[in-house]
Amino acid sequence: MAPHYFPLVYAGVDGETQENSEAVRDLVSENAASQFHADPSANKLCIMCENEGTQLCGSCGCAQYCSAECQRNDWPIHKMLCKAFTDFKPSERPSPNHFRAVVLPVNRSKPEHIWLQYDHKNRTMVVDHPDLDDFAKSIGHTTLPLSDGFCLPINDASLFKGKRLGQGICLLGLATTVTKKQVALLNEGHSALGKPALLHPLFGPLIHVAMTRDDQPHETQETGPRAGDQPAEGKYELPGVSLTKLRSVAPFNLDGNAKNDASGENIGQDNNKSPQLPKEDSDKGDSGKNTGTSTTGEVLGVDQFDKLDHNPIRVQDITMRDFRHFVDFYHHQPSNPCIVNPERTTLFYIPAIKINSVTDPFNIKMGVSEATATRCANVPGVTFHGQFPAILANLVDLRWWVRSGDFLMNEEVHRPWSNADARHLDAILAKANPNSEADVVAAAFPLKGSLLVIHIQGLPLLPDHIRAFNKYMDLVFLTGGMPSKKGFSAYWQKYKAEHERAGICMEDVYSPYTLEDIDVGEDVELQDVVKHDAVLLQRIISGNPEEWMAAVRAMRKR
Ligand SMILES: [Zn+2]
Ligand SMILES: [Zn+2]
Repeated sequence: MAPHYFPLVYAGVDGETQENSEAVRDLVSENAASQFHADPSANKLCIMCENEGTQLCGSCGCAQYCSAECQRNDWPIHKMLCKAFTDFKPSERPSPNHFRAVVLPVNRSKPEHIWLQYDHKNRTMVVDHPDLDDFAKSIGHTTLPLSDGFCLPINDASLFKGKRLGQGICLLGLATTVTKKQVALLNEGHSALGKPALLHPLFGPLIHVAMTRDDQPHETQETGPRAGDQPAEGKYELPGVSLTKLRSVAPFNLDGNAKNDASGENIGQDNNKSPQLPKEDSDKGDSGKNTGTSTTGEVLGVDQFDKLDHNPIRVQDITMRDFRHFVDFYHHQPSNPCIVNPERTTLFYIPAIKINSVTDPFNIKMGVSEATATRCANVPGVTFHGQFPAILANLVDLRWWVRSGDFLMNEEVHRPWSNADARHLDAILAKANPNSEADVVAAAFPLKGSLLVIHIQGLPLLPDHIRAFNKYMDLVFLTGGMPSKKGFSAYWQKYKAEHERAGICMEDVYSPYTLEDIDVGEDVELQDVVKHDAVLLQRIISGNPEEWMAAVRAMRKR
């Protein structure tokens, strides 16, 4: 195995400082003191909620819970690491400078423990793991290209719903400029935390580290490495790459550039302004967030960190509680198409039907199977990626809208689509000109990865609604007739009866029109512009059904 290096901060090329890195800022700013603060009392709390942790996991003894219910809720995640924690003994620590960390490997579905070595003096973390070797090889390197690495402190408490951190946590990985959005480089360990394809895909290895900050000068973090462990002078220089001559680290931008301009936009335009993890182009610093100015106003950069007469960052052993925080961090990214654990977030969410392509290689690697091809999911109430009325559904008075369930849709990669449940939902009403109120056209929604279908009032659709609707529309196209509410209502009765005759219990399956009769008072809490569009666009469809039906037919012929 080759050692892979992650510097705490990255200097610019040829002495040019990298002041735009949020990671740098957070390590050196005054806020860092509280962000990397050790709070041992937090470790006495249930790792799922803030109640007192009175019970320990019987197998590993490393996870505290307040109740059997919290333990049960954590089990899908905890079981991935429970045995590994048991098998990973502090007595086997290779040196006092080695610390327990967790890797999400690219090509394995489970997180794994590693001993991460911390070179306190040189401010560098060293990771040995065969997955990192394989990954480096797959991108044509022997060790990971540090210049494109990131070292991101995770401290957005809103992602943890107010749960306290027991210590600071930090994520190491590689910017997508290196990892590219290739199937082979997609992080399977990360995807497994949100199967099937509920998370925004991440690429390359991810390493989870716990840290605290100690403003007292220390020569080394611990008592120093054991004899034989001390790396030879200069070992932390890779051939041809000096740590002080590295290109900038890609800053993260996790609040998603939440500009209110992304919805209802023209489907054809490049709307690649989704919050990305990590952000692809580190040099632009275009969001106003990555200005290198801390919340207290002072401008800080890597040079400040270098000027500190000692390194205040100390790596610590990661705990189960820390890892649970990382999982919450992944689950609650606003860039995810779906919300994995709605009860653990303050994000506003609505139910949706997710229609996944079952032959899409990204989906397959993210855990989509025939059984999960079309499924219920929860999605953010507000999307930054645009959502559009499905013309044919609106023609039968069903206020269904669609949005992408896959945020790689702008990538120039061939993505085979196969899920017939989307067959009559891809005709949408879109604005030809985003600045015009009335200039709307029928357009084909690009089917890549997956499609999300929502009810505009945020009410729960059922997979049966989608399937019956598609079958009804098949008939409409076959006979050349006009779709109508009356026609689909009658077809729905037939659909239900057929299923019941086949022995399928349809007792709890309500008619799609049940939802249309519910008045929730307001439409889904959309951005104002979308709310305006929602009313306008639906009026446009219902105002001239023949014209829109003809537009869809013409579109199909092309
Ligand atoms: Zn609890
Ligand atoms: Zn356990």
